Amino acid sequence: MTADATNLLGLDLDGLVAFCQQLGEKRFRAVQLYRWIHQRGVADFALMTDLAKSLRDKLSGVAVVEGLKVLTEQRSSDGTIKWLFDVGQGDAVEAVYIPEDDRATLCISSQAGCAVGCRFCSTGHQGFSRNLRTAEIVAQLWFAEHLLRKERGSDDRVISNVVMMGMGEPLQNYAALVPALKTFLDDHAYGLSRRRVTVSTSGVVPMIERLREDCPVALAVSLHAPTDPLRDQLVPLNKKYPIKELLAACNAYLSAAPRDFITFEYCMLDGVNDSPDQARELVQLVKGKVPCKINLIPFNPFPASGLLRSPRERVTAFADVLLQAGIVTTVRKTRGDDIDAACGQLAGEVQDRTNAPQRMTRAPVHVHRPSRPSH
Ligand code: SF4
Repeated sequence: MTADATNLLGLDLDGLVAFCQQLGEKRFRAVQLYRWIHQRGVADFALMTDLAKSLRDKLSGVAVVEGLKVLTEQRSSDGTIKWLFDVGQGDAVEAVYIPEDDRATLCISSQAGCAVGCRFCSTGHQGFSRNLRTAEIVAQLWFAEHLLRKERGSDDRVISNVVMMGMGEPLQNYAALVPALKTFLDDHAYGLSRRRVTVSTSGVVPMIERLREDCPVALAVSLHAPTDPLRDQLVPLNKKYPIKELLAACNAYLSAAPRDFITFEYCMLDGVNDSPDQARELVQLVKGKVPCKINLIPFNPFPASGLLRSPRERVTAFADVLLQAGIVTTVRKTRGDDIDAACGQLAGEVQDRTNAPQRMTRAPVHVHRPSRPSH
């Protein structure tokens, strides 16, 4: 590979058409190439037998199809698989495959580390190293899909859903994200429906608005608190984009979204955001204001957080308040517990290149534990 060869995993179909046109090739050649790469998982131009030899020769000088190096693979007894990928310079990111009865989901990372610094997230505690390139985002699906097909000895699609919920805040890596989403959706590549591709954000309001214009897929928003003072502590980005602005952006997003509701993620933290009163505040916040589903997530404790998982009874009581108010509520099952693959546990390994002032703001959350009956 020459140092400046283009990694074709980083081009959506329009990008590949433009690239091929620079080589004097027509659009249908780009479509053929795109299908070889994404539908058949082929990286070697010499094996793309229905491409003209002259094109294959041209490509081999200027382009590559280069996946990520796998550092580790862990397989859980429940079928969940977690891969740690090397993205260079001491950074590694994770992707998680989660098979269920009616779907198979790949959770993909968008950044090495994360600058948002949510208090309950182990990625956030590591700081931020860099944005992933489009090729590095797409390579996670390309690798997992074709590995799993090979293991099954079948060309049938394995992964039916993608969630941008791994390491990183996808909307803070917008320019790389959108071409990756387009490749996930494209019928000549993975052909996933917009309803089955979800971007999960901590609430980058201007980028929610742009996503609605550029590539509206399903949206999940990490809410985690019913009030601004508490959300300021849990999701520091709230200081910049408070709840009112966030909910307005969610409502506007629905005009173009493939689903008629927003999913709000709510990580249940013992004594922090899990009281029945806070459930009632949450009802007040969203009921009749934003069509939504609320997904309660059991917290996965890690030592640096200083936080604990809410007891099951407390989660149930919280869910009951929401359900009685007519709000669709689910409690997320934890998956891959034996390989630390659950939400918020994707640690990877990153070199913290967060600048010093940002690093200083990572104070622990103030945990106020109300007295309550023992369980
Ligand atoms: S929850 Fe998401 S946005 Fe918050 S720190 Fe973790 S990766 Fe970043």
